[in-house]
Amino acid sequence: MLRCSFCGRRAVYHQRTSGVLMCDRCLIRSVERRFQQTISRYKLIAPNDRVALAVSGGKDSTALLYLMAERCQRYDCELITITIDEGIRGYRDLCISLVKKNAKALGLEHVVVSFERAFGSGLDRIAALLKDRGIEQGICTYCGVLRRSLLNQVARELGADKIATAHNLDDEVQAIMLNYIRADLSRLHRLGPIYRKREGFVPRIKPLREIPEKEIALYTLLRGFEVNFSSCPHIGGMRVKIRNFINELEAEHPTTKYMILRMFDRLRPHLSDALKEFNMRRCQICGEPTPSDVCRVCELLEQVGLERREKTLISEKQKELWRRARPGG
Ligand SMILES: [Zn+2]
Ligand SMILES: [Zn+2]
Repeated sequence: MLRCSFCGRRAVYHQRTSGVLMCDRCLIRSVERRFQQTISRYKLIAPNDRVALAVSGGKDSTALLYLMAERCQRYDCELITITIDEGIRGYRDLCISLVKKNAKALGLEHVVVSFERAFGSGLDRIAALLKDRGIEQGICTYCGVLRRSLLNQVARELGADKIATAHNLDDEVQAIMLNYIRADLSRLHRLGPIYRKREGFVPRIKPLREIPEKEIALYTLLRGFEVNFSSCPHIGGMRVKIRNFINELEAEHPTTKYMILRMFDRLRPHLSDALKEFNMRRCQICGEPTPSDVCRVCELLEQVGLERREKTLISEKQKELWRRARPGG
């Protein structure tokens, strides 16, 4: 039997980056410690912050939900959970009921806003429209741009101080490489543990960015959280190739992911010099903040013959939903 390097109990995980073996308890503690350290090191949350949690129902966001709820009991910030329903049949619908259940167990409110309501069409239909029109643009680009914009709008209307997303080490490293390969300096610059405020944008924080996907998956299993482990049926494109490439490298050189992250974190402060600070304006079509005349959402929607439907997505009543996280159960 392999034994935990720290306490001698039965090991359940070999952390190849450090060479240590961990039992269930020590792995749980290690994940929680890195979550806390990331928050303190980058000052992601201040006392009394109102934090909107983007929760999809997958392993990462469910882990984040419990970690944040537990942290907020001690640090007195307020939490609300938001799920963007992209309209992916047989996938997102299952996740939403799980999020509802988990949020309820923690005494948190849950707000769901759908692509259907905001744009008059869910992602499955947008995928079909793209195909009909022979548009090459990847569906994941649509989904990402629309989801981020909606999340920002909903969090802003709710009066949130921060949006917390569940990006893990793997997600962050893939995004760094993807934007590097696409030569997208401005998107590259927006990565990092916290992306601070510009007018109309709620700052985004990523408390799980130092934790590998594998360890979060194990953490959710060991803590017995109910999560959806299936992946989106639309996934594809360059990100998948980059993910596989990085995982192959990591298999031979177990610190690859951390090296990419650390190198990026050292470079990031210098990226602002290379970027011309552009002024934020209001989109001429929808009024959302954008550096150009028309925002990226309206640009993409126009390609498939859709438009934003409603200016306001959150009711006055929903704005009162904030509450401090209560002990679970
Ligand atoms: Zn142990
Ligand atoms: Zn617009």
